[in-house]
Amino acid sequence: MRIGAIEAGGTKFVCGVGNEQGVIEHSISFPTEQQEATLGKVIDYFRENQVEAIGIGSFGPIGLHPGSPLYGFVTTTPKPGWANCDFLGILKQEFHVPYGWDTDVNAAAYGESVWGAAKGLRSCLYYTIGTGIGIGVYAEGQLVHGLVHPEGGHVPVKRHPEDSFGGLCPYHGDCLEGMAAGPALEARWGKKGYELSSDHEAWEMEAYYIAQSITGAILMLSPEKIILGGGVMKQTQLFPLVREAVRRNLNGYVSAVEITDHIEHYIVPPRLGEQAGLCGALALGLRAYKQAHTPTNAV
Ligand code: ADP
Ligand code: ZN
Repeated sequence: MRIGAIEAGGTKFVCGVGNEQGVIEHSISFPTEQQEATLGKVIDYFRENQVEAIGIGSFGPIGLHPGSPLYGFVTTTPKPGWANCDFLGILKQEFHVPYGWDTDVNAAAYGESVWGAAKGLRSCLYYTIGTGIGIGVYAEGQLVHGLVHPEGGHVPVKRHPEDSFGGLCPYHGDCLEGMAAGPALEARWGKKGYELSSDHEAWEMEAYYIAQSITGAILMLSPEKIILGGGVMKQTQLFPLVREAVRRNLNGYVSAVEITDHIEHYIVPPRLGEQAGLCGALALGLRAYKQAHTPTNAV
């Protein structure tokens, strides 16, 4: 079986074709431009690479409520040319196949739950810490949508005692994304994240903010696994710093051995690596295919 996958990021798009084992057989990547040009390239790709279903993990905010007129849309994004874009509708006119559709981070969380670090678990969180911060939420065996969809990257954070940086979020200033995404690192320290030495004080401060978010998420949702991806997490020295700060914050209150004794297996990088987003979209496509081919009276 050939299933299509689209990782629709604000910086780049990746289109691929994979199978039901989660193996990507072929993919291409191109920068995200204006909507028409970008979706034109997506359509060209799937004309050349025919598939039986397509899964999409998209940057957002997006419309996720089936039946809503905005289902399948990228809605209020400030990204030029993308506000109120009927992403899914445009593809549906071209390819008459089942579609899976969710946020980029929910897709990655789902992919990790099917084939990756959270395989066999009924809950996980997937963080991407890159140009922005997003948190995908998988709980009780379901991707969480709610009123719109979770926007955990914009939760307010308590300031580090030695941090005077104002924050970069255009909406909130010093929310998690405003303080800890890649551009915030660069603005605070005057160098890109990958130009800072691995023992730079930046990483302790970065871990402080990430751990604060994780602490809140553990207390709020009790996830069984926390997966940290995105460009900034290529700084692998962050993992032990984050784990230690989470343990310090919780201070023994959550008495799970996964946290008290084995936190190195609890807060982890994506097992699907760089392909977490694309494999997640593939998993959404596969799920849509199975749903479409299950008789409606089956239990
Ligand atoms: P995007 O979020 O745009 O999809 P990435 O996840 O690669 O893409 O995130 C890009 C951000 O991560 C940039 O701000 C970049 O400076 C930062 N970044 C990329 N690689 C590294 C690295 N090795 N160390 C620290 N920061 C990095
Ligand atoms: Zn914000």
